[in-house]
Amino acid sequence: MENLRTDVVVVGLGAFGSAALWRLAARGINVIGIERQAIAHPFGSSHGSTRLFRVACMEHPGLTPIARKSLALWTELGERTGETYVRQTGSLNVGGPNSRPVKGARQAAAEAGAPTTDLTHDELHERFPQYELDPGDVAVWDPGAGICYAEPTVRAHVAEAEHLGATVYPNTMVTAIDLGPNEVTVRTPTVDIIADQVVVATGAWLSKLVPGVPLSPRRTPLFWFQPKDPASNAFRLGNFPSFIWEFGDGRGLWGHGSDEDFLVKVGLDGAERDRGVDPDELDRYIHPRKDITELSHAISRAFPDLDPEPVKLMPCMVTDSPDGQFLVGRYDERLVIAGGDSGHGFKHCAGIGELLAQLTTKETPYTDVSFVNPLRF
Ligand SMILES: Cc1cc2nc3c(=O)[nH]c(=O)nc-3n(C[C@H](O)[C@H](O)[C@H](O)COP(=O)(O)OP(=O)(O)OC[C@H]3O[C@@H](n4cnc5c(N)ncnc54)[C@H](O)[C@@H]3O)c2cc1C
Repeated sequence: MENLRTDVVVVGLGAFGSAALWRLAARGINVIGIERQAIAHPFGSSHGSTRLFRVACMEHPGLTPIARKSLALWTELGERTGETYVRQTGSLNVGGPNSRPVKGARQAAAEAGAPTTDLTHDELHERFPQYELDPGDVAVWDPGAGICYAEPTVRAHVAEAEHLGATVYPNTMVTAIDLGPNEVTVRTPTVDIIADQVVVATGAWLSKLVPGVPLSPRRTPLFWFQPKDPASNAFRLGNFPSFIWEFGDGRGLWGHGSDEDFLVKVGLDGAERDRGVDPDELDRYIHPRKDITELSHAISRAFPDLDPEPVKLMPCMVTDSPDGQFLVGRYDERLVIAGGDSGHGFKHCAGIGELLAQLTTKETPYTDVSFVNPLRF
């Protein structure tokens, strides 16, 4: 067995790990990234074309600085690569005045200084007639929000890290991590890597490499739809920006329109099924009755001009933490982890990559990370 030595190993190069690799390489640190699959593969949580980007994050006001850091880093990277990683077309948080999207966005606005605008029911209806609103529905407009691009971003993080000197091993599975007093050994079938620190960001597989981490992967397919009238512009991104909408029963829809391929992405929130899955045994088939009926029904009710039959779908996974918040931080003297994306991590991944680099090198983090401390449970 060959042995290698480096400063830091990053295990798992999805959204979080690829960003950590980039931000560590940007500091001139000797870093090796290991990914079990190809880069930007469809078997984890970071595939498909887009994700919602929000600044007034309903999940926690502490996320606003992390989203802003992602935006700043991606803007800087885009200036170098000529690519766009975020499109800021704004987004709507819709629901009753006490719904989670509306209350949460207002709280982020108040506590984190994210600029937002309240829309009354009538203003919302006038500006966005695609929505079949309930009488009490209002909205909070988040102007800095929009969409971010998933697979191209993961590829760009890894390419930039390699450009800055990182070594990348795709298609290589880490089989064990042995933490010692003076070093950590990261084992693969072909090579053992000895390092000062390891960052583990293996998504739905995190608790397989770091036992005891309280995470629960959930099967969550991605769906795309088309307008009933193919000539309609009502669901182009500019007219149908990203949204999160909570209904009176606590369920809800999220999604966004599109300019590039005319596919409208919509997903259903609040499903109780398919929790606690084994990511190695994920059911990758789509079952029309189980997967589509409820979503199609919600779409027919909410957006009558959208054809409720999906035109494209893909299996995917969310990894839930007990409080719906990420686990990002130091877990051991030689181990930093990032996971528990809870379905809202992509927009934060570059900002989390920067935090992972800061925590690994024991710099002071650019923002408060106590709410994502992995030892909080
Ligand atoms: C349907 C859906 C919609 C979503 N919508 C949004 C949204 O609108 N906005 C948003 O911000 N977020 C959204 N998310 C969440 C976002 O996609 C995730 O937060 C993010 O992709 C999580 O990235 P990750 O790095 O934790 O996991 P992953 O991308 O899965 O990365 C983990 C990597 O580790 C690798 N790995 C695992 N085990 C090993 C091993 N032993 N050795 C080596 N490598 C290993 C895996 O192959 C994988 O590549 C959504 C998620 C889903 C499923």
